[in-house]
Amino acid sequence: MRIQTTELGLMQAPLRLPFKTALRTVTMLEEISLKMTDDAGEVGWGSVVPTPAITGESEDLIRSDLKTLLGELRRTPIVDVWKWKEVLPSAAHVCRSAQCAVDVALHDLSARKAGIPLWKWLGGAHTIVMNTNMTISVEEPALMAQRAQEAVRKGFTSLKVKVGLDSELDKARVLAIRNAIGSKISLRLDANQGWSEQESLSLIPWFAEMCGPIDFIEQPVKATEIAAMANITRHSPVPIVADESAMTLAQAKNILETKAAHALSVKLIKAGGVSEARAILDLAYAEKIPCLMSCMFEVGAGFQAAIHLASMHPAVHWVDLDSAEFLTALPYQGGVRPLGPTIRCGHEPGLNLELRE
Ligand SMILES: [Mg+2]
Repeated sequence: MRIQTTELGLMQAPLRLPFKTALRTVTMLEEISLKMTDDAGEVGWGSVVPTPAITGESEDLIRSDLKTLLGELRRTPIVDVWKWKEVLPSAAHVCRSAQCAVDVALHDLSARKAGIPLWKWLGGAHTIVMNTNMTISVEEPALMAQRAQEAVRKGFTSLKVKVGLDSELDKARVLAIRNAIGSKISLRLDANQGWSEQESLSLIPWFAEMCGPIDFIEQPVKATEIAAMANITRHSPVPIVADESAMTLAQAKNILETKAAHALSVKLIKAGGVSEARAILDLAYAEKIPCLMSCMFEVGAGFQAAIHLASMHPAVHWVDLDSAEFLTALPYQGGVRPLGPTIRCGHEPGLNLELRE
């Protein structure tokens, strides 16, 4: 396959509620979109949302790396989509956000050319209905409890609660939510690196006892504190999920080898695309480690590709793909329309997505 033209665009959409975590606040969705067309006129879409608070990769760096990669891509025929990074000289040296946008577009293009949806192109036998959680941004306890009730009224049966700004207030936040929604809805707590090891060792058993059922606790301490993660994991009554500590395949392997978590959060932008995210899922499946399929704050091609990958891979145990729920309107045509708690891929070729150019 020869890529003839590549175009970058910007997809923007206002949020109906702010998305707040211990690391950042988002009020406007801004994604870089990538359209590539091959010599047969077939189109593939990729996208990336710069998330420097998590990846350390700025928008300027991503745009500069994309320019380099796309220049090489237009000069180099791609025979095997799984191996494109081996034939482009810069591929191994550019940031993973840029790799992800190109990787997703090549996957979309390949599946469209084959005339099958991406989940099937990746080897999936059938589509399944997935249940995503709804994320409750970190706010004052009463507002979080009110938003949790709204999500439950929409049919969500699990809520991902952002905590990690202040441990005493975190207790009040989660307790207020639990009291507001009753005992049937499962909670997933994401501290986004906000607690210390000691705080985690006392908070996690408290949450398990006072606020259950809790599916898991995500990234309690700083990404680099692997020994602390391992100690917390040894003592935790609920599964610990590594997110910021497990960006790449190499880091995921390290988490499993050091037993620093019970489970992994997988995101395409952290990994560098569909192929790497899949490699992490394959490793986890072989090691009987459950995974959470998640995303940055995004709804474009990268997010859609994550939905397709999650729907065909047996290592995906939990789904956290709810970004669209925060928007006033979806800024694309076609694709999966992930509004509400259930998500299902269709049968149209590729990602079946049309983004504004
Ligand atoms: Mg997280």
